[in-house]
Amino acid sequence: MTDCLFCKIVAKEIPADIVHETDRTLAFRDINPQAPTHVLVIPKQHHANAFELAQADDGLADDLLKAAHAVAVQDGVAETGYRVVLNTGPGAGQTVFHVHAHLLGGRPLLWPPG
Ligand code: 5GP
Ligand code: ZN
Repeated sequence: MTDCLFCKIVAKEIPADIVHETDRTLAFRDINPQAPTHVLVIPKQHHANAFELAQADDGLADDLLKAAHAVAVQDGVAETGYRVVLNTGPGAGQTVFHVHAHLLGGRPLLWPPG
C-alpha cells in the first residue's frame, strides 16, 4: 500500500526505532509512548485491522502474538506482565489502518483501560 504509514516503515522509507524483526513481522517503539515499554508490532503484509489479519488464516496472527511476547521478554516485562492492545475501528481509537498490536508494559496498567 503506497499511502500507508506502516507499509512505509516496513519498506524503510520512514525511519523507526526497530526493536525486533522476523521474516513476517516488525516491531518498533511508538512515537508517543504511553508506558516505559510501548512497542507497535505489525505484520509486514498489509492488513487493515485484526479481523482482516485473522481472516488471512495463514498463521500471521500467531506470529504477531509470538513477536509481541519476544519483545516483552527482550524489554524485561514478560515476567511482571504486559498488555497487548489491538484498537479496531475509529471508535476504539484506531488511527493507522495497518493492523498493529500495542505492546504496553513497565508500569502498573489500570483496568478497565478507558
Ligand atoms: P492506533 O491509534 O491506530 O491504535 O495507534 C497508532 C499508533 O501509532 C499511535 O500510538 C501513534 O503514537 C503511533 N504512531 C503514529 N505515527 C507514528 C510514526 O510515524 N512512527 C511511530 N513509531 N509511531 C507512530
Ligand atoms: Zn500498510
